[in-house]
Amino acid sequence: MNKIAVIGAGTMGNGIAHVFAQKGYEVHLVDVSEKALERGLATISQNLDRMLAKGRISTTDKDDTLQNITTHISLKDGVKGVSLAIEAASEEPALKMSLFQELDKHCGPDTILATNTSSISITQIAAATSRPSQVIGMHFMNPVPIMPLVEVIRGYSTSDEVTKQVMDLSHKLGKTPTEVNDYPGFVANRILMPMINEAMETLHHGVAGVLEIDTVMKLGMAHPMGPLQLADFIGLDVCLSILNVMHNGFKNPKYAPSPLLVNMVMAGKLGVKSGEGFYDYTASKKAEKVADRFL
Ligand code: NAD
Repeated sequence: MNKIAVIGAGTMGNGIAHVFAQKGYEVHLVDVSEKALERGLATISQNLDRMLAKGRISTTDKDDTLQNITTHISLKDGVKGVSLAIEAASEEPALKMSLFQELDKHCGPDTILATNTSSISITQIAAATSRPSQVIGMHFMNPVPIMPLVEVIRGYSTSDEVTKQVMDLSHKLGKTPTEVNDYPGFVANRILMPMINEAMETLHHGVAGVLEIDTVMKLGMAHPMGPLQLADFIGLDVCLSILNVMHNGFKNPKYAPSPLLVNMVMAGKLGVKSGEGFYDYTASKKAEKVADRFL
């Protein structure tokens, strides 16, 4: 396995492309938006520069990594000859289903189809293909170049062989894969999102301000980042989509997204990626501070 495709060049897609390319894989980065591809490549380059400045990589490493990545608007061209396609497009069930139909049509018969979904059923996504035994969840954490975990999610039909290949590959990337079963939100977001949602409700009810809530969780619970800052970093639209998937999946009101989150997403306040969420990133100082801490 030396040629892979990453579908979606946003927050996660560019990070996944970065990690594979840095390990010497030929990476085809695919997105429907030229702008997203340009932004994705620029982000990878900036993140490599940070690593370079900290002495973690050499100039040659940076150049080689960038050379390993090509960008594609056409999915059909992007997946040509790849052994693995990792989908990291927006967290919308209908979009993922139609993307997996396309992937199934254009990928070779042996290609493994992985999704970076945070919460959507792997079994449901796999059902859109003619190869459910080769469909698996490969859930990287943000920021991908830094976070060691890959939550590996087996769908109902995922084969042992495909699971083993993905576990082995994750180890080769220097990550720690953890195998879990297919249930809304899997493990990571089933536990994380209710906490983030509760932080928003705590703010919404006027119990405390943004800084106070984040300070309580950072200094009181030893979390490296407060839940509201983390939500900004994940993307408020992504948080909303995950909560909606869990709310629909469990039919339990405890997963209902906070009205504050719904309103902020409708207002276009998506966090770091839109320049404003619970914090203001427009001066780019705060955004840089967040990124610097990780890279
Ligand atoms: P994002 O909004 O930053 O990027 C999504 C990208 O997908 C955009 O560039 C968009 O143009 C592209 N896209 C949309 N439709 C497409 C299509 N048909 N073909 C190709 N590209 C398409 O989203 P993100 O935060 O990178 O999230 C991507 C996935 O990763 C989601 O499933 C999300 O739940 C998951 N995830 C996100 C995080 C996080 O912290 N943001 C963490 C783990 C997993």
